[in-house]
Amino acid sequence: MPPLAVRWKRAGIRIGFVPTMGYLHAGHLSLIQRARLAVGKNGVVVVSIYVNPTQFGPNEDFSKYPRDLERDLKLCSLAGVDVVFTPGDREMYPPWGEATDEPARRDARPTNFSTHVVEETLSQRMEGAARPTHFKGVTTVVAKLLNLVQPDVAVFGQKDFQQAAIIKRMVADLNFPVKIIVAPTLREADGLAMSSRNRYLTGNLRSQATVLWCAIQLARATVKKSKAFPAAKLKAAVKKLIECEPAARLDYVEFFEPDTLLPVSTVTRGTHMALAVFIGKTRLIDNARV
Ligand code: AMP
Repeated sequence: MPPLAVRWKRAGIRIGFVPTMGYLHAGHLSLIQRARLAVGKNGVVVVSIYVNPTQFGPNEDFSKYPRDLERDLKLCSLAGVDVVFTPGDREMYPPWGEATDEPARRDARPTNFSTHVVEETLSQRMEGAARPTHFKGVTTVVAKLLNLVQPDVAVFGQKDFQQAAIIKRMVADLNFPVKIIVAPTLREADGLAMSSRNRYLTGNLRSQATVLWCAIQLARATVKKSKAFPAAKLKAAVKKLIECEPAARLDYVEFFEPDTLLPVSTVTRGTHMALAVFIGKTRLIDNARV
C-alpha cells in the first residue's frame, strides 16, 4: 500500500479514503460516494476493511462482529472503489496473527506495539465514559491508516458523531495533512440508523430498536414546542420512553453543544443529542441535532 500511495501522490492523483470495519451497508456506500465526489473521477477512492481489536473492550463483540469480505468486495466494486485495503492483525499489530492459531485476542496486548494516540478532552464523556479504552484504539488505528493510505480527504459518518469530532481534533492537533469530511447518517425507512450491528437484531428486537429514533423525535418535538427545556427533565422523558420497550435499556443520553461536546443544562434548537441503548444484548448508538 505505501508505495502505491506514494506513486499516486507523485503523479498528482488525489486520494479519498473511507475507513470501515466491513459488513458494508448503504451508510458506508454513501461515504464512498462522498469520497468520490471529493476526489473526482481522476482521483482514487480507497476503502479499508479492518475489524480493529484494540477498540473493543474485553467483554464486547469483537469475535462475533459480523464479517463478510466476499460480499464487501463485490459492493466496493459496484460502488467504483479503486482499492480495498484489508490489512490483517499481522500487519497492524505484529506479532498478532503471525501464527494461524493465534488470532488477535482482546485480552492480550500486542508485544511489539507500544505507541498510542490519545485524545484527552472530547473523548471523556458519552462513548468514552461507557467504553474506556475505545477511543484510544480508534485514534491509534485511524492514525496508522492515515499514514498508510496518505489520503487527501478521509470521510467519516456522523452516525459516530463523537468519533468524528475526535478524529477532526486529532488531525488538527497532530497536523495530519488530510481534510476530514463528515457525512450524514443514513437511516432505514423507519428511522433506525444503519449499522453493521443491526444484523444482531433478530425477531421483535428489530422493531424495538426504532425507539432510538423515537427518542430523537421526542426531543425535537419538545424543543419545537417549548423552545428551551431543562436537559435533566428531557433525559428523564427519554429514559421513560426507552423503557416502554421490554428489551430496551438506556445506557446514556446526553444533550450537548455540538462543537465542544460539553453538556448543556437547557436544551434549545441547535443542541445536539446522543444516546446509547441496549436492545437485548446489542448496544446501539444514535445522535442528531435537536
Ligand atoms: P464502521 O464500519 O461501523 O466502523 O463505520 C465506518 C464508517 O461508516 C464510520 O465513519 C461510520 O461513522 C460510518 N457509518 C456507519 N453507519 C453509518 C450510517 N448509517 N450512515 C452514514 N455513515 C455511517
